[in-house]
Parts: sequence; C-alpha cells; structure tokens
Amino acid sequence: MISESAVQHLKSSVRGQTFCPGDAAYDAARTIPNAMVDRRPALITRCSGAADVIACVNFAREQDALVSVRGGGHSVAGKSVCDGGLMIDLSAMKGIRVNPAKKTVRAEPGLTLGEFDRETQAFGLATTMGTISKTGISGLTLGAGWGHLHGKYGLALDNLISLDVVTADGRLLTASATDNPDLFWGLRGSGGNLGIVTSLEYQLHDVGPVFAGGVLYPSSFTKQVLRFFRDWAPTIPDELVTQVVSLTFPDLGRVFAIAGAYHGDLKKAEEVLQPLRSFGKPLLDIFQPMPYVQLQSMFDPFFPPGRMVYVKSNFFKTLDAEAGEVMDEFLATCPSPHTFAGSEHWHGELTRVSANDTAFPHRDYPFNLIIWSQWEGAENSEKNIRWTREFWNAMKPFLIESSYGNYLSDEGEESARASYGTNYDRLVALKNKFDPTNLFRMNHNIKPAKAVQTVS
Ligand SMILES: Cc1cc2nc3c(=O)[nH]c(=O)nc-3n(C[C@H](O)[C@H](O)[C@H](O)COP(=O)(O)OP(=O)(O)OC[C@H]3O[C@@H](n4cnc5c(N)ncnc54)[C@H](O)[C@@H]3O)c2cc1C
Repeated sequence: MISESAVQHLKSSVRGQTFCPGDAAYDAARTIPNAMVDRRPALITRCSGAADVIACVNFAREQDALVSVRGGGHSVAGKSVCDGGLMIDLSAMKGIRVNPAKKTVRAEPGLTLGEFDRETQAFGLATTMGTISKTGISGLTLGAGWGHLHGKYGLALDNLISLDVVTADGRLLTASATDNPDLFWGLRGSGGNLGIVTSLEYQLHDVGPVFAGGVLYPSSFTKQVLRFFRDWAPTIPDELVTQVVSLTFPDLGRVFAIAGAYHGDLKKAEEVLQPLRSFGKPLLDIFQPMPYVQLQSMFDPFFPPGRMVYVKSNFFKTLDAEAGEVMDEFLATCPSPHTFAGSEHWHGELTRVSANDTAFPHRDYPFNLIIWSQWEGAENSEKNIRWTREFWNAMKPFLIESSYGNYLSDEGEESARASYGTNYDRLVALKNKFDPTNLFRMNHNIKPAKAVQTVS
C-alpha cells in the first residue's frame, strides 16, 4: 500500500501532473494502443523532465512500489502499464534540438517517430527509426529499432551517441563511449532494464525523398512471391529496405505484397527495383517517389489504436520452400482481416556490427518472421490467439529460438531471456551493478543474480 502522505509528497515535488483512480484524466492516461492491456496503476505521474523522473524513482524505491515506464506506449506486451504501483509516463517529454552542423539531434523520450522525423527532416536529416509514426522513439531505440534506413545506417540504437539515464538509486548518469561505457553498451538492446532514459542523442544522415511503395500479388501467389523474395533480397543494395507481407485491403481482399523503400539516388531506384517490378503478374504496383515523412506514415492506417494485438516473431533459420508451404496454408485461414504477417529483411549496415558490440545480439539472420495478429472485440480473442500460436508452432522447425525483443508478447522468463542471446550474462552483471533490487522489471526482464525480494 502506498501511503496517502507519500502520494501528496510526490505530487508536491514534481512539476508534471499525477493522476489517481477516479481522476478525470486517469483512464486516458492508462490506456495504450493494444486493447488487450487493461491495467490500473495506483498512480500515474506524467513527468515534465529528468527531475520529475528522479523524484518518481526515489518515491518508488522508498515505497517499494512496482514501476512501469511509458515512452510511446507501443510495447505489444503492454509493459508500460502496471497494476497497482507507479506508472512513470514520459509522453509529455517531447523536447528536441537538431544540430545541423554536426548532423546530430538530442531528443526527449516522449517523442513519437513521426514527431522526431518531422523535426529532423526540417534540416533534410534523419536516422533509422521504425515504420509506424505513432511508435515511441525510446522503447523502440532501447530495444533495437528496425526501419527503412537500417540497410545503410544500421539499427536505431547503432546511431546513438549518448543517453541520459536515471538509475535505480536516483542518480542521473550520462552513458556514451567515454562516460559509463558499460552502461552505454547495456542500454543499447536491454529495453528499460537498466534505468529510465531521459534524453537520447543520435547521429543523423542526409535523407531526401525516397522511392517507396510495394508490389501487390493475389494471395494465391504467396509461395512464388516468398521464393522470389528469398532469392532477390540478398542481392539488393543497402539503400533498399524490403519486407514481404500478407495484408487485407477493403477493395482487393487479402493480398501478398513486397513492400520496399529506396533512399539514395532516385535515378537508380527504377533500376534497383526492376527485378521486383517485373516479377510475376501483380495486382498493383504502387511504388512512387515520396517525401521521407510520407513513407514513415505509409503503414499507419493498418495499425490504429484500440485493437487487440498479439504478436509472434522469430528469426528464420531457413526460409525454404517447406516454410513457404506452411505460411501459405496458415495465411489462407487467417481469422482477422486486420492481421499482418510476413517477413522483414534485415541486412546491410546492421550486420556489420558484431553481436557483442552492443547488448542487441541479432545481427546474422536475414529474415524475421512476423505474425502480427490484430482484431476487434474481446469475443474474438480466443480464436485469433489460437490461430497465431498454431501458425507459430508450425513454423518452429524453420525458426531460431531467439526473437527480437521489441516484437515479443508476454511469453514468460525463458523467451525474454532467449531474446538477449549470448549477451544475457553480461547484462545480468550490469543489472547487479545498476539495478540490484530489480526496481525496473516491467520489461522483458533481466533478473539480477540476487534480486532482493520486493512487492509485485
Ligand atoms: C504498431 C507498431 C509498429 C511497430 N513497428 C516497429 C518497427 O517498424 N520497427 C521496430 O523495430 N519496432 C517496431 N515496433 C515495436 C516497437 O519498437 C516496440 O513496441 C517498442 O517497445 C515501442 O516503444 P514505445 O516507447 O512506444 O513503447 P513503451 O510501451 O512505452 O515502452 C516499451 C518498453 O520500453 C520501456 N521504455 C520506454 N521508454 C523508456 C525510457 N525512456 N527509459 C527506459 N525504459 C523505457 C518501457 O518501460 C517498456 O518496457 C512496433 C510496435 C507497434 C505496436
């Protein structure tokens, strides 16, 4: 139980607002895009800056309260909201300053990708972020950050220069290659395990208009398109990022598409994309030049907030014809028109960083299976979750055990641990150093070796 006097003390020591059950803004503040998540924190503090974050961390530690941290709220596992305890909401921390001369940016953790891209593009600059504009920069970056620029510039976390972070003891530390380098290593890939990040500094790059879109095929062509994608993707240049996806359009029904984005010399785009655009008999070819910010919101209509979401994802060991057969079979029986399923292609610059250079280990697998089930109505949950699990189980022979943590639904300790791969033990050592009581555990948790028992 958190005492009333402690709550009053917290309220008077922060600049931001604090919401409790019964307050008019409480329900909106605890609601995140995934409608499967319906948790009720005892308190929600919407921080105004690092000082508020420090006050919240000290409060949670002293009150032995469960802590959750909300950046953009897009964790599919719903880790940003806790039941009981304190939800530390960073969504109002949206400061951003671009340094065009140095091509760097300092950004606060409440920014969405769309807000971040808009500010950096004002200077013709960008760095790798994800593909849906409402996602938060901080959860995405701390987990890795795969997006349309990764082939050329690596993952979002590969572009970090420094971070400010509040650790469990309430200190505000800077982590970079020269300041607290062990913490800098660990923050790049361990999600929110080591502290609360209050500022992120990134390297930016010149990014102009892009040539982007997709080629859409009837779903009956799934196996042929997958085979083409598997053979063609390894030949493409770093400037092109692609994914293959099954999705439904109201006028076309379910289609199987290869989507892509080419940035670089636009005169070369047609030549690079020619093998794709001349393959098979597509229903539609929607590749076209567009501003980078338009590309970054191209998929938004497929991911509105308020749907139930359940995700399964692992890297492919092998994307062979047999894997294609299984995908074809399950996609044909998909129970929801809102579900997205397919494979991202991971290549280029991100593969040139070694698995142990940062805490994020997955650099060697070119294809990542994604089954992103989405549906409306709680009454449809059972059949959609069952289909997702059966599909994933049938795919297991073609997948490695480990998965990309940012796409992990809540599947327990073992899968969380597996997502850190060979970096797990080094992360446990960092957890012992920076969060020995596991104050930050609403995440894909790395347990300190001797966690002091706390309330949950
Ligand atoms: C619609 C959709 C599209 C997506 N597309 C992509 C994509 O293209 N590429 C990709 O790589 N990923 C993608 N993702 C996955 C996304 O990267 C993760 O869900 C990520 O965790 C979202 O970050 P957030 O800040 O919005 O989420 P939150 O739920 O707010 O946070 C996620 C986790 O990070 C922690 N956290 C957040 N901010 C901080 C902070 N400042 N300090 C410490 N801990 C923090 C939270 O406590 C939580 O455990 C997508 C997710 C969704 C729902």
